[in-house]
Amino acid sequence: MNTVKITINGQEQHVSKESTILNAAKKAHIPIPTLCHSELLEVKKGGACRLCVVEVEGRKRLLPACATTVWDDMVIHTETERVVQSRKLMLELLLANHPLDCMTCEKAGDCRLQDYCYLYNVKTSRFVEGEVKNLPIDDTNRFYDYEPNKCILCGNCVRMCHELQKVGAIGRSLRGFGTHVAAPFEEGLDTSTCVSCGNCISVCPVGALTPKSKVKYRTWEVSRVKTTCPYCGVGCQMDLLIKDNQVVGVEPRNEVPNQGLLCVKGKFGYSFINHPDRLRSPLIKKNGKFVEATWDEALTLIANKVTTTKREYGSEAFAGLSSARCTNEENYLFQKLMRAVMGTNNVDHCARLCHASTVAGLATTLGSGAMTNSIKEVIDADVIFVTGSNTTETHPVIGAFMKQAKAKGAKIIVAEPRRIQLAEEADVFLQIKPGTNVALFNGLMHVIIKEGLMDEEYIHNRTENYEELEEVVQLYNPTYVADICGVRPEDIEAAARLYANANKAGIFYSMGVTQHTTGTHGVMATSNLALLCGHIGKESAGVNPLRGQNNVQGACDLGALPGDLPGYQKVYHDHVIEKFEKGWERKLPNQVGLTVTEIMKKGEEGAIKFLYVMGENPMISDPDINHVKKALETIDFIVAQDIFITETARMADVILPAASFAEKDGTFTNTERRIQRVRKAIHPVGESKPDWVILMDIMHKLDYHKTYDHPSEIMEEIAAITPIYGGITYDRIEQEGLQWPCPTIEHPGTPYLHKEQCIRGLGIFKPADYIESAEVTDADYPYILTTGRMLYHFHTKTMTGRVEAINAMYPKSFIQINPTTANRLALEDGDKVKVTSRRGDVITTVRITDIVEEDVCFMPFHFADGAANYLTNSAVDPIAKIPELKVSAVRLEKVLPVIESRDNP
Ligand code: SF4
Ligand code: SF4
Ligand code: SF4
Repeated sequence: MNTVKITINGQEQHVSKESTILNAAKKAHIPIPTLCHSELLEVKKGGACRLCVVEVEGRKRLLPACATTVWDDMVIHTETERVVQSRKLMLELLLANHPLDCMTCEKAGDCRLQDYCYLYNVKTSRFVEGEVKNLPIDDTNRFYDYEPNKCILCGNCVRMCHELQKVGAIGRSLRGFGTHVAAPFEEGLDTSTCVSCGNCISVCPVGALTPKSKVKYRTWEVSRVKTTCPYCGVGCQMDLLIKDNQVVGVEPRNEVPNQGLLCVKGKFGYSFINHPDRLRSPLIKKNGKFVEATWDEALTLIANKVTTTKREYGSEAFAGLSSARCTNEENYLFQKLMRAVMGTNNVDHCARLCHASTVAGLATTLGSGAMTNSIKEVIDADVIFVTGSNTTETHPVIGAFMKQAKAKGAKIIVAEPRRIQLAEEADVFLQIKPGTNVALFNGLMHVIIKEGLMDEEYIHNRTENYEELEEVVQLYNPTYVADICGVRPEDIEAAARLYANANKAGIFYSMGVTQHTTGTHGVMATSNLALLCGHIGKESAGVNPLRGQNNVQGACDLGALPGDLPGYQKVYHDHVIEKFEKGWERKLPNQVGLTVTEIMKKGEEGAIKFLYVMGENPMISDPDINHVKKALETIDFIVAQDIFITETARMADVILPAASFAEKDGTFTNTERRIQRVRKAIHPVGESKPDWVILMDIMHKLDYHKTYDHPSEIMEEIAAITPIYGGITYDRIEQEGLQWPCPTIEHPGTPYLHKEQCIRGLGIFKPADYIESAEVTDADYPYILTTGRMLYHFHTKTMTGRVEAINAMYPKSFIQINPTTANRLALEDGDKVKVTSRRGDVITTVRITDIVEEDVCFMPFHFADGAANYLTNSAVDPIAKIPELKVSAVRLEKVLPVIESRDNP
């Protein structure tokens, strides 16, 4: 029997025997007041505020409802005189030290202490005497304030930080009257390890922790609109708080995929939406200067240019860059515009720079180039193998889940060139040289096969080509691999045993694996390892490429790729082309088009005459920026569609002002293949329009007259023509998104792939030998530069660069250099250094850290000043055409400060 019978305020209930009184009451719609209870936090440690006490027949003492489990025939009374008196007493005790400044408190109207004082008519406290608590406010964090005098010491924030966020930045300090929440050693919160996720604010029941907000608002003045975070591929669900057509705050939602958590970007990175820099009207470049234009002028100019370009040069003179930041519906329309109206498959987007090798590699070995499993399954994994991903910074909520899994007993393996934060949690940390992943994976498989740890039954029943794998990895004994990777042989063996012996082991990787000239081989190596141990096709396991941007998965799914129509249907298959020609009523090209890197190359050669860039910024994000610049200067006509004037838009002929994610409806698909709603919360600023409206208007100008009144109608068209999205409708994803494949309207979606068999049938081993990176160090360029992302900024900084607090923390580019290297070059922290590669040079600021090895340095690629991509190598993987952004050879030279002459005025 898993249920018990209880009686609560006279109502008989049958509830789970694991239920607390609080949950049972909630089920019966009987409210019980709580202050220290939070849905998010583990119940058993609750019970601190004693406000939820209830009377249980047969028990002398009142019991806390949040921390008491029900038993059979329990009889509970939640509002007896004794209970009410006890609650009043607790409230009076809390009020004894609490400033009664509800008139000016930011939390008024949303404060549980205020609510319960009102409910139980508690206005003052009998216990106020002598000294009034007057501790200083800690306002040192750039994003939020802590007001200790309002703190009721419920402990929720500390528990959130320790139990869920797993940072442990705060604790209780002092005892007695002066007790408060603080960073260790009593210093300001800015000196703690706080990552400014703001999740502690979400569980504070009073006004002690509050976001720093530019716009003052009372809780009853704001409306809430549920939507999807516009930053990384986790796809966190959140409420935007709206006042006077402005987004004034963000709160997390306690549902998949983020379960009540956010990171600093999602929580605090919203001020770009109403930023004064937002583009408000179309701009046309005249005599080298942008001048405002009407929509009709801009669209007519574009349409005329399309017509003349097609007439003079043919369809192959067009190219388009779609956007991983725009919605699915917009990506669908963009590639449709390029294919059905302009007549070219030269359409691609920045997935080429991040996960093109994933799409190519996993589609080959498993039949689908996407994350095999779901985010929430991370928490139940036995082994988490992270490689080529700084997960706590790039996918912070997944990073927090990994740490939660560790606390539950999971083992963590990290293979990374830098000693990232997750390495501190790792049971085995392999600090590999950049670009040596294939050798490492071959080495792990060598050990597993040699020690007989592979899953022979799984290999026999579910895979093919095992013999070739065995042959290729034979050479890769631990000593040989250790030498290539720069790690210890015994650590390779330990990692191999840990991974192979686990019941549920998941591999999580990102661009450290993909952005290499051997990126596709690197991806296939992850899949080889997982197939070898039978870790594909079950929960909490699999091969999980973590997709970087909010909708990079969706942009790939919806055909913003030169060889793929929506749903990865190939442009060169006759039956596919026939289907789309019928659906779109236009003749379509059937040759694979150009990739991002090829578009730039052809652009520089003069073969591309018309480039349409929607929400991308190749002048920062693409490798070898000098070459990109030359290409953009050579192309005749460029349309840039964006929310700000980006570095790329400055080089355009026409700029079209687009609406931000908060100003439109649509869907994003997150990294776990979940299609989720994006909802319009405010009206578009100025004359900006949602990208899908702009694209539809351009199509109309070009005599393609399909009209949509709402993005849901575009999704209907997508579903009809894209089998993996066949069962998606806005109604079905209203509450919670669905994970593709979802082929029919009855299909429940697919939390994990390859369950009984791989999508391609048998999983195929595709082994490859290790090949050195395209560029290696030498006497002129003695250091390896590797690039990546950081927690606070996003992509090319167009959005986070407009969030004041973030920008104040990280305004400029920097380079991480090992202390020994710095010493050798007489560099000190904060010095300027010239970094030179074979393609260019930049000046940036030195940050000395031992998380990088002596011969390796790291630069985040977000910054326009000292942009890392002036240095990076545009050599590409021959299969996926992804550039080798992770390995460039550089030299470092100290830049001496300019001493100003005394004679200078
Ligand atoms: S903001 Fe996040 S990391 Fe910082 S104290 Fe709060 S929960 Fe901890
Ligand atoms: S700051 Fe808020 S959440 Fe933290 S202990 Fe104080 S009242 Fe509780
Ligand atoms: S950036 Fe990613 S982890 Fe952070 S809130 Fe947004 S979706 Fe979530």
